[in-house]
Amino acid sequence: MRSVDAEPLFIARGEGSRMYDVDGNGYIDYVGSWGPLILGHCHPAVQESLEKALRGGTSFGAPSPLEVELAKKVAAAVPSIEMVRMTNSGTEATMSALRVARGFTGRDKIVKFVGCYHGAVDSLLVQAGSGVATLSLPDSPGVTRGTSADTLLARYNDLDDVRGIMAAGGEQVAAIIIEPVAGNMGVVPPAAGFLEGLRKLADEHGALLIFDEVMTGFRVAYGGAQQLFGIAPDMTCLGKIIGGGMPVGAFGGRREIMETVAPAGNTYQAGTLSGNPLAMAAGLAMLTELEKPGAYERLEEKSARLAAELSEAAAVSSWPTCQNRVGSMMTVFFTGGPVTNFESAKTSDTGRFAAYFKHMLANGVYLAPSQFEAAFVSLAHSDDDLARTAAAAAAFFEAKAG
Ligand SMILES: *Cc1c(COP(=O)(O)O)cnc(C)c1O
Repeated sequence: MRSVDAEPLFIARGEGSRMYDVDGNGYIDYVGSWGPLILGHCHPAVQESLEKALRGGTSFGAPSPLEVELAKKVAAAVPSIEMVRMTNSGTEATMSALRVARGFTGRDKIVKFVGCYHGAVDSLLVQAGSGVATLSLPDSPGVTRGTSADTLLARYNDLDDVRGIMAAGGEQVAAIIIEPVAGNMGVVPPAAGFLEGLRKLADEHGALLIFDEVMTGFRVAYGGAQQLFGIAPDMTCLGKIIGGGMPVGAFGGRREIMETVAPAGNTYQAGTLSGNPLAMAAGLAMLTELEKPGAYERLEEKSARLAAELSEAAAVSSWPTCQNRVGSMMTVFFTGGPVTNFESAKTSDTGRFAAYFKHMLANGVYLAPSQFEAAFVSLAHSDDDLARTAAAAAAFFEAKAG
């Protein structure tokens, strides 16, 4: 909120597509708790499942059937996942996946992409700024040079950049980790052939390909971005939607890799509350709703309509804008674009974005308070919600027509 010069809202409750702040103001919510709430707030099936689980206890510190059920659903939805381990957050999932990749390959280095976010993992908090990026200096205080030195940075959608890095030292690279659709620099889809190219490069150099689908999993398709683009990674990180709005994460992949995780193997990973019945129950209920026929078709229809209306609204303005969308993830960038990586995303006029954000908020539309985030459409957004959102945007851009 500071970046858009606004005060944080304190939210008292949510219902369907709406959130209400402590002063009683209602907003059409496009943040959806940063991704998990693909069914909106307080979906009855999720609430019921949670209430039932709650009566049986909140944590056992032992395997429980709900955990196995969710694991089976995840593995069925995402064929590249043969075995899966639950965690309590997406951050834990990516952190653990890297440890496993390093243990499995016996290598230290990781390739990540500038502008991709993989949670608050020390070695992955390296992303921005050309000079800083080139030197691989930590982007956050508290991350040591030693930690970030093993993180190699590449440009998103730039296969030649990755090819160069792998040619120079691919034999030391344990894994290439990527958001297969970037959502944390604003939405940036993978260019045609980019993910295929990464798959080939990883194979040529004996590195693992890790898709961080914490945001895209069960979002851009039931089977995630890997289903949408038809590329199988070696490992996948999940979170957000699979917890149904409760704290959750998961990582999984090929059996021979996952069997190195303790207790089957030697690579340690654990979590006191991992696989707890509440998170598993919420996630199971959410996936059960999403597997019903037509869910993703309805989501696509809503998202396509909103995106088209926003583009139409923005076209009357004299301000250059462009929009990226993959399924129900979308970003209007305040730059002429095209936005294909973090560098081009950063050509956006964030002052103009801030004005847009504040106008939308004043008109009851809650967007993420940053140019470099996705807006999420949920199945709870009604035709009326989408029409109101488009009308609010149209009023803003018409005022900037001159
Ligand atoms: C949100 C997110 C994470 C981190 O998940 P947390 O549950 O917040 O720790 C990791 N990777 C991606 C791509 C994300 O969007």
